[in-house]
This record gives sequence, structure tokens and C-alpha cells, in this order.
Amino acid sequence: MAIQRTLSIIKPDAVAKNVIGDIIRRFEENGLSVIAARMLHLSAEEAGRFYAVHKERPFYKDLCAYMSSGPILAMVLEGQNAVALNRQLMGATNPKEAEAGTIRADHAESIEANSVHGSDSVENAATEVAFFFGDIELHSRR
Ligand code: ADP
Ligand code: MG
Repeated sequence: MAIQRTLSIIKPDAVAKNVIGDIIRRFEENGLSVIAARMLHLSAEEAGRFYAVHKERPFYKDLCAYMSSGPILAMVLEGQNAVALNRQLMGATNPKEAEAGTIRADHAESIEANSVHGSDSVENAATEVAFFFGDIELHSRR
């Protein structure tokens, strides 16, 4: 297993619920380190650029509105197998299908307002990290 980096976003619903600390605790307790973090409030246009891969999906416009509805916390997580481990801690996209004890099972409101984003591959992680952070903003613990 390799040390990897992945992009995590605490989405507007979870920031509004004041569970940032609970979510970061889960990452740290499972061996992931936060090596960059920034709170920001995206415009709908910026959210649309981040989620451009979904632009043909029926939920795209609503997703952009939701992701720009309030502040988010963008983070880079680093650790062994970080991409898959983050996805495992997040749980399934639809909280009704998310395994008990996952972030989405415990906090998500709906399939849209599902508390967290996580990169789905090492390649996409690199692109997504670069969307929010420059090299000198990444503080590796290795
Ligand atoms: P994930 O975030 O688990 O990688 P996707 O990449 O498929 O899921 O979708 C990106 C985001 O779009 C989801 O996290 C969720 O906020 C939203 N979304 C996905 N599917 C739907 C849907 N069927 N209806 C509304 N929103 C959705
Ligand atoms: Mg995805």
C-alpha cells in the first residue's frame, strides 16, 4: 500500500451542522493526516467547474446550487491508501445505502446533501487537489 493524497470536502450541510470536528476526528483516528485546509464559499460557477465531470447528469444544476449554498472546508488528506480509505470512511453516495458508522450514515441529509466529497482515484485526486491548493500549501507529514 502506498502513501497517497486525496481531496476531501466537508460540504455545506455538514459545515452548517457544526460537525467539522467530528469528521476530521474520524480521518485522524484512521491514520489520515490533514496536510492542507481552507474554508471557502464557492460561487455556483466555481462549483460547476469542480463538478464538470457531472455536467450531463440531471442533478448537475441542483448540485452546483447546493455546493454554493454555504461555506465548505476543502482539505487534503495524506496517508496509506488515502483515496480508498477516505471513500470507505465516507460511505455510499446515498446515505440510505451507507454502511453504519460511516460519515454519510451518521450525518448526511440526502443523496445530494451528503456531507462529504472524496476523490475517487489517485489521478482525479491530483486534479482535485490542484483545483484548491498550490504546492506550497501542502504540508506533508512524511
Ligand atoms: P460521490 O460523491 O459519492 O463520489 P458522485 O460522484 O456520483 O458521488 O456524485 C457527486 C455528488 O453529486 C454526490 O456526492 C451528491 O452530492 C450528488 N449526487 C449524486 N447522485 C445524485 C442524485 N441521484 N441526485 C442528487 N444528487 C446527486
Ligand atoms: Mg464522485
